[in-house]
Amino acid sequence: MTVVEVKHGTHERFIEAASRKKILAHKCSKCGHLMLETVMFCEKCSAGKFEDVELEGAGTVVTYTIQAVAPEGFEDAGSYAWVVFKVNNTSVRASGFLPGVKTPAELPVGAAVRVKGFDAKHGLLLEKA
Ligand SMILES: [Zn+2]
Repeated sequence: MTVVEVKHGTHERFIEAASRKKILAHKCSKCGHLMLETVMFCEKCSAGKFEDVELEGAGTVVTYTIQAVAPEGFEDAGSYAWVVFKVNNTSVRASGFLPGVKTPAELPVGAAVRVKGFDAKHGLLLEKA
């Protein structure tokens, strides 16, 4: 059993934001580019200084992978999809976990999803919007 200690303050704030159905993102102080809070240097200008911004935890499905057989640690989840989604009104792509998806017909690309919360084991928890 692996115990993951959360030491990074930003990560705690990300979880706290997710519990309020928001996505904590970084906005480059130099060029204004928006990125996930996990990015350490600006994807556009390589600057390392950011402001925190909260994005509405809603977006559209870009791509996903359906896991029909839950791997170890996911036994409680049943069938689920790992979803990459584009956050509404931004170019930010985030990924999360959408339980209860068994077939691609249930989750067309472009479908609306929103953040439901944060699961300590699985990460960002999504639901169909
Ligand atoms: Zn930048």
